[in-house]
Amino acid sequence: MNLAPTGDEQRLRDEFRAWLREHLPWEYGRGLPPRFDDLADEVAFLRDWQRRLAAGRWVGVAWPEEYGGRGAGPVEHFVVTEELARARAPELVGRIGINLVGPTLLAHGTPEQRARWLGRILPGEELWCQLFSEPSAGSDLASLTTRATPTEGGWRLNGQKVWTSYAQFADWGLCLARTDPDVPKQRGISAFGVDMRAAGVDVRPLRQITDETEFNEVFFTDTFVPEDALIGPLNEGWRVANSTLSHERGINPRQLVIHLQLVEELLRLGLERGAWDDDRLRPRLAQAAVEVRLFQLANWRSLSRVARGEEPGPEGSTMKVSWSEMSKRLHDTVMAVLGSAAPLWHGAADNPGDGTWQRSWLYYQASSIWAGTNEVQRNILGERVLGLPREPRRDAAPTR
Ligand SMILES: Cc1cc2nc3c(=O)[nH]c(=O)nc-3n(C[C@H](O)[C@H](O)[C@H](O)COP(=O)(O)OP(=O)(O)OC[C@H]3O[C@@H](n4cnc5c(N)ncnc54)[C@H](O)[C@@H]3O)c2cc1C
Repeated sequence: MNLAPTGDEQRLRDEFRAWLREHLPWEYGRGLPPRFDDLADEVAFLRDWQRRLAAGRWVGVAWPEEYGGRGAGPVEHFVVTEELARARAPELVGRIGINLVGPTLLAHGTPEQRARWLGRILPGEELWCQLFSEPSAGSDLASLTTRATPTEGGWRLNGQKVWTSYAQFADWGLCLARTDPDVPKQRGISAFGVDMRAAGVDVRPLRQITDETEFNEVFFTDTFVPEDALIGPLNEGWRVANSTLSHERGINPRQLVIHLQLVEELLRLGLERGAWDDDRLRPRLAQAAVEVRLFQLANWRSLSRVARGEEPGPEGSTMKVSWSEMSKRLHDTVMAVLGSAAPLWHGAADNPGDGTWQRSWLYYQASSIWAGTNEVQRNILGERVLGLPREPRRDAAPTR
């Protein structure tokens, strides 16, 4: 593991930090992004922020230059993502397009599709959502039942998706649908780019435990999808999907910086609330600090491997399980330190952080579910790393 940045990497970090100090819509190192009551206002703010970042070519630095990137490598991507998080910048609103759809189109899209879609992703001109999960196909994604049936000039889409983040703001969706029901399930799936404003697309927001509505149900009723929106060959959507999902796990500079910041704030909160004098809380505070440091080292180790051109391998699953469980433990410790203030929400008196800790605790409960649940990651580790026997019921085996 080589931890020393090269001259170019350090220069990139310095250049971006200087850019952020000049362009960030709040004071670097002190301010925080504005809070919005209405998600639509927040998305408008975030689109504008992404547009400005992209104009400086600070979004998708690992993308080819012709689509707005810098043609840079994983280390540069890591540095830029770290600096954004360090500046307390919110997650990029176009992250599904940037991190999942773009790399998928680069790997499987036609030249026309790349020309049509890629250039509009980085500046946030067009937002994408990921139309994979269905009510009965989450972990076992290959069981999906949304159908695409051939019609003149393309397909008709019918079915339902669920948990689709930001679908209500998306212009396009990367959608998996069954195109051949008569073959083994993984062989009858195709991937499409679906116009989210097309007739027959019905997006219904779902209210979450955090009181936000980022998630949606999406219903398709005879939605027309033109021929040239097929991504990858017909019935090879499973390969396309696996390439998308491979970008969901692994090195995680954003969560790394967020958790470094969280643990620092937790240790400060512990001082304010006398937790360091409590024999039950003191070891938990120390554990939180140690675990975040281990997460940092694991990220650096994976990054070194990827930078050497090696495959990340099943390390992605190890990282997913360990950081999400670390995050939950850290947040549980926060609640223990908050004590009687733990059940309070925004606006309550004597509530350190005015509900942000509580929102964060609720939000990170989902970290062991998104991008493939931890149980499924453990199956992957058991089978592919430890070589344990596969699950007896292969038809019900998880696929993500
Ligand atoms: C914050 C967040 C954002 C998301 N955004 C999107 C999105 O934008 N687009 C999208 O398509 N999806 C999205 N998802 C959905 C996510 O991919 C699914 O929730 C996930 O794949 C799990 O599927 P499920 O919810 O149907 O649970 P299920 O698959 O029904 O699992 C239920 C429980 O059973 C366990 N289980 C299932 N199979 C096995 C097995 N074989 N062995 C052991 N245990 C098993 C699971 O671990 C889980 O605990 C999002 C989820 C979250 C939390």
